[in-house]
Amino acid sequence: MEELLEELVEECRHYTAQGRLADYIPELTKGNISDLGIYVTRSDGKHYQTGDYKKKFSIQSIVKPILLLLALMDNGVDYVRSRVGVEATGKPFDAINVTDQTLLSEHLNPMVNMGAIAMCTLLKGADYQERFLRLLELTRTLAGNPEITLDESVYLSEKRTGNKNRALAFLLKTYGMIDDDVEDVLDCYFRACSIQVNCKDLANIGYVLANRGKMPQTEERLFPSRYANYVNAILMTCGMYDGSGEFAVKVGVPAKSGVGGGIMAVVPTRMGIGIFSPGLDEKGNSLAGIKVLELLSRRMYLSIF
Ligand code: GLU
Repeated sequence: MEELLEELVEECRHYTAQGRLADYIPELTKGNISDLGIYVTRSDGKHYQTGDYKKKFSIQSIVKPILLLLALMDNGVDYVRSRVGVEATGKPFDAINVTDQTLLSEHLNPMVNMGAIAMCTLLKGADYQERFLRLLELTRTLAGNPEITLDESVYLSEKRTGNKNRALAFLLKTYGMIDDDVEDVLDCYFRACSIQVNCKDLANIGYVLANRGKMPQTEERLFPSRYANYVNAILMTCGMYDGSGEFAVKVGVPAKSGVGGGIMAVVPTRMGIGIFSPGLDEKGNSLAGIKVLELLSRRMYLSIF
């Protein structure tokens, strides 16, 4: 397995130059475009890694499945479903999804920004600081890494320049879908996106989803398996933005990407995969990361279809 990963990373390394660093969050332009790393956590307790797998990067949208999980753990499926829908928007992650002067909960998807901002309001906590800290704690637990922390400079960069997200949050407020102060909600969202992780963290988190709520080794149950079914189903249909259909055809497993260059893939019952390569394609997905996953899926028959 180690050799296979090395071979694939070598084979795909040249694709890194075809990607582009996200520049709408200025701090992300400091990434190294040629980085490419992968970490695999398997159900037999073994793990394999190669390339730049130790590099840290901001989790960005890969926090969305964790946000959704915490919202489910705090409120149950019915309430979450009544506030944030499950249909794919088929639009870019920051799209303004308002039709005919109405915005309904069905129009929101938890894997794109508007739905994720709305989900911050579903987390339990005395204030948005506490809500974020609970999200950070769940991220640490899922990853088995108590040292995960916030990338302060990415957070400040997003907070300073995140006006599109502000527009989305004000639309939610206009349509009565959030009651709280918009800046408080956004602060939680910006912090959530700025959690700093590495490939191993993503592989471990993906593994818990693949193992339907149970931690590796100890088999301790963190959440009911039906929450994993819920999250994985949404990852399958919308985890890779408006590239999810093509990803389903070429790779065929639930996954989530982030504009920091990370991808978390969930291979049900078999493994969690964390990939990092910050050069993005035109949809905002890690370009070389997807190439590695395509080849890995073909070689190891990972597709669930
Ligand atoms: N923080 C980013 C934003 O809200 C997350 C986008 C992403 O990774 O898709 O614009």
